[in-house]
Amino acid sequence: MVPEQHVGPVDASKTPRYAGFATYAKLPRIDEVEKTDIAIVGVPFDTGVSFRPGARFGPAHVREISRLIRPYNPAQDASPFELVQVADAGDIVANPFNLDEAVMQIEEAANELHESVEKIVTIGGDHTIALPLLRSAHKQHGPVVVLHFDAHLDTWDTYFGAPTTHGTPFRRASEEGLIDMESSMHFGIRGPLYSKKDLEDDTMLGFSVITSEYVEENGIQAAIDRMRARIGDKPLYISIDIDVLDPSHAPGTGTPEAGGLTSRELLRALRGIADLNIVGADVVEVAPAYDHAQVTAVAASHVVYELVTAMARRTAAERDA
Ligand code: MN
Ligand code: MN
Repeated sequence: MVPEQHVGPVDASKTPRYAGFATYAKLPRIDEVEKTDIAIVGVPFDTGVSFRPGARFGPAHVREISRLIRPYNPAQDASPFELVQVADAGDIVANPFNLDEAVMQIEEAANELHESVEKIVTIGGDHTIALPLLRSAHKQHGPVVVLHFDAHLDTWDTYFGAPTTHGTPFRRASEEGLIDMESSMHFGIRGPLYSKKDLEDDTMLGFSVITSEYVEENGIQAAIDRMRARIGDKPLYISIDIDVLDPSHAPGTGTPEAGGLTSRELLRALRGIADLNIVGADVVEVAPAYDHAQVTAVAASHVVYELVTAMARRTAAERDA
């Protein structure tokens, strides 16, 4: 089957990358194309943070440096923007003064997008946004496997009595039955916890853990093998807190922890599972005020690109099957 003609990014050999509108990777806006297969959408929201604020500026910061991204991805041997129509859907409006209303707004906006778009990659925003995004993914697919890259478990119960925060989305998601409790995983966990019970609770909530230390001792390939064995081909939602990276690779984030992954290791891990059934993804917790030389945004923009490439390959393969 001859692929349809898709509207690609602005040609950087004719218009300087740093000129014009800063859509993700210089892609067209969603209102400039007939039909979008994969949408990039921002959620500028950080009312759920427990330490450094500022992730509300994450989407604009990541888009700004993403203008350097080129259209062929050699690591996955694919031109994602030719395979399917990818477009930038702008930002979801989330009330900064009312967290519960914001969470509802995010879920409703994601549901609305899902009416016309098959897959969404979201740029946060703090990790609170994963909860409404998982509610929307569950509405489409039923319980999804969550593959969660983070220094932190994010399965704590409450902060100051509040159940909805950036440290609690995956406990709430598990309690609500949104996730597949046989196959969900955390990747890159490290750093101090409140007590050993945090890990015991986490297991009860349906997660298996690949720690940062495991990656150091056994290598990325062993970690990829573990992910593939546990996840299989079930509908998979990938949530990436940029603090899974070491602070040397991602200083611009709210709750940094020493001893994390390199950006090379994270990209390799994603390439190792690129053919799985990824139905949605988010990249969160980029806080530009603590970023230097756009280090964190460079990593986040490439992580988004790797996810989009993987999803585009699968979408195109299913279309052409
Ligand atoms: Mn984290
Ligand atoms: Mn997190």
